[in-house]
Amino acid sequence: MADEIRNVVIMGSGCSGLTAAIYSGRANLKPLVLEGHEPGGQLSMTTLVENFPGWPEGIMGPDLIDNMRKQAERFGAEFRIGHVTGADLTQRPFVLTLGKEQIKTRALIIASGASARWLGLPSEKALIGHGVSSCATCDGFFFGGKEIAVIGGGDSAMEEALFLTRFASRVTLIHRRDAFRASKIMLDRARAHGKIHFMTDTVVEEVMDVEAKEVTALKLRNVVSGKVWDFPVSAMFLGIGHNPNATMFHGTLETDEDGYLKVRDYVHTGIPGVYACGDVADRRYRQAITASGTGCMAAIEVEKYLEAMGR
Ligand code: NAP
Repeated sequence: MADEIRNVVIMGSGCSGLTAAIYSGRANLKPLVLEGHEPGGQLSMTTLVENFPGWPEGIMGPDLIDNMRKQAERFGAEFRIGHVTGADLTQRPFVLTLGKEQIKTRALIIASGASARWLGLPSEKALIGHGVSSCATCDGFFFGGKEIAVIGGGDSAMEEALFLTRFASRVTLIHRRDAFRASKIMLDRARAHGKIHFMTDTVVEEVMDVEAKEVTALKLRNVVSGKVWDFPVSAMFLGIGHNPNATMFHGTLETDEDGYLKVRDYVHTGIPGVYACGDVADRRYRQAITASGTGCMAAIEVEKYLEAMGR
């Protein structure tokens, strides 16, 4: 219904958005969840999640998301496939645009997440979940005693490489230049680690072996000498950064220099009634449990806000 005014719309269906949906559903607010372009968020792309409390044997990422979604539906959350293309936060109720449709809402929870950057190779895409990963905390454990490559030259790559030394027999950090964006302390720590080897001026041309559905080697090219060779590894971890899915709010809401939404008091944006939770506002922790935690906070804030408005 065009004139219907929703109590709360949740942008994003990863674990922060779904937790916000469970809480606002239980508060009888009948939340509408707009699923976004990556329904289920990053968890829907991982394999076994072993660090979400309450699952002693672990749970597959897509199953965890599916459970959260069912839980939210049980409390009256409504889901719609759709990607918000515009938001007018200057008027009340707020107006969201989804293609040709407009949705009016008294409160908005932005849980649109962040997307890992990938190299963009077809072979890389084909092997995600089969040895290609962008999350060492999620998937490092599966490569005990194996040779692992980490791509990138910033703090994320250093952090991933250091974390992976717990499992790997050897970690090779592959960077496209010979100068690093990483902070000196992280770089020094990685350089000093006996299991980490540096390979600079090198880019990945292809990930093998798509046919075998497992990573067996990387085709590498030295950008200075032009030399191309196959480098045997069992996994490739990307540490080339994340992009917060918040570009549509640039200029409307406060962001940091990399585009993450800035929040005060955990989930408050600068506009009353608009809250941000999960990875779109968190560059530091980026865990399922922390995203869920802030999703819960955002829903509780919405409840208080609507109550104060006399809903
Ligand atoms: P970043 O600093 O932007 O570094 C990204 C790295 O990936 C750069 O070395 C970049 O190479 C490389 N890269 C980007 N696209 C690439 C591509 N297509 N192919 C190959 N290499 C590519 O990102 P980040 O490391 O995620 O860090 C983001 C922010 O979070 C930083 O401010 C960082 O300090 C912070 N952070 C801090 C910690 C910590 O303190 N523990 C941990 C993680 C992140 P070029 O250098 O050639 O561009």
